[in-house]
Amino acid sequence: MEDRKGVAVYVQVPFCPDRCDYCAIPVSVSTALIPRYLEALSMEVRRLLPLPPGQSPVSLYIGGGSPTGLSPEDFRRLLEILRPFLSESGGREVTIESRPEDLDREKLAILRTLPGLRLSLGMEGMTPEDLPMLGRRGAFFDPPSLLDRLQKELPGTSLSMDFIVGGENWRAERFLMMARALGEGGLDHLSLYPLVIEEHTTKALHKKQGRAPEGLEEAAAEEWVAACRGLSSLGWERYEVANFSRDESSRCRHNLHVWQGGDYLGLGPGAHQRRGRSRRENVRSMSDYVRMSEAGESPYEFLEELSQESYDVETLYGNLRTSSGISIPWLIERVGLLSYECILSEFVRSGVVDRIRTNEKRLVLNDEGLSALDPLVLKLLSFF
Ligand code: SF4
Repeated sequence: MEDRKGVAVYVQVPFCPDRCDYCAIPVSVSTALIPRYLEALSMEVRRLLPLPPGQSPVSLYIGGGSPTGLSPEDFRRLLEILRPFLSESGGREVTIESRPEDLDREKLAILRTLPGLRLSLGMEGMTPEDLPMLGRRGAFFDPPSLLDRLQKELPGTSLSMDFIVGGENWRAERFLMMARALGEGGLDHLSLYPLVIEEHTTKALHKKQGRAPEGLEEAAAEEWVAACRGLSSLGWERYEVANFSRDESSRCRHNLHVWQGGDYLGLGPGAHQRRGRSRRENVRSMSDYVRMSEAGESPYEFLEELSQESYDVETLYGNLRTSSGISIPWLIERVGLLSYECILSEFVRSGVVDRIRTNEKRLVLNDEGLSALDPLVLKLLSFF
């Protein structure tokens, strides 16, 4: 497999000024715990440092919630805490998730000081009507106009936009027209997710009360497959199941490192980390995270040494979801040549692999295959 040196660092900032109806992430809309969260995070960083040789950070990903939804003072403090993971030279990728409405003059001034910045914008909808339909709070920003503004305000920043496919207001042609305009405008990256109604969300409650149309998720899943196909035909490079880049240089290096088996650290409530075969999960609850940190304890609830089998499953699933696919010699080593040939002929017959790329000793799924990843991985695992 690819030799991925260093660690990708993820930081969970679980605060959001509002809660969306479809959001299943444990975020807090109250600001009361922010000072204690920042202190606990600072302790977690101190406990981790210095990183062992060969484990220097390759990327920093600050996710949420909405990290830019913090007040300017708290946002500055957050970045100060994470300074050991920032690179002065700009050689490292620093991704920050952001709601467009958070990007006022003060936040933009702070962001401008960050080398290697990549901004991941949670747009979700294309028109003002989409947001209330999806149950997304906050103001609407026209994606092409926002792109134009941020290119001027944050020159040199890699810009990505997330969209949700589906909902009563979804129009495929309108989305593809907008994606074309965003590509022509120089957007670097797009992420596309089907609308899913997860348990314990307001949307799930609406569904239970009969306030959501029947078959919404099924329709969204189909519309997502068609939208992914449409993006590929517009020239967007699908380098992972739900992620599209303008070219190779605009892929998310942090996520690729994790998918392709590199080590990663996770800080903050609910964050995961894996170094070699050691996997750890932090406590999900913010109050437990803060309480344990204040008591001088490391705030994790789960620690395990992955078995070879579990490690192989992670390797298979992570690699196959990317456009580099999985190493064929690695696969043959696990399932044997005969089974491999059987898998390959079945996958070729069902039209989910790229025949040309199999010559490069990598089994690479094509557009159809990426859209049906889970059943294909299950099929492969039955040979392990
Ligand atoms: S903006 Fe994102 S993190 Fe915040 S509530 Fe909405 S979906 Fe959840």
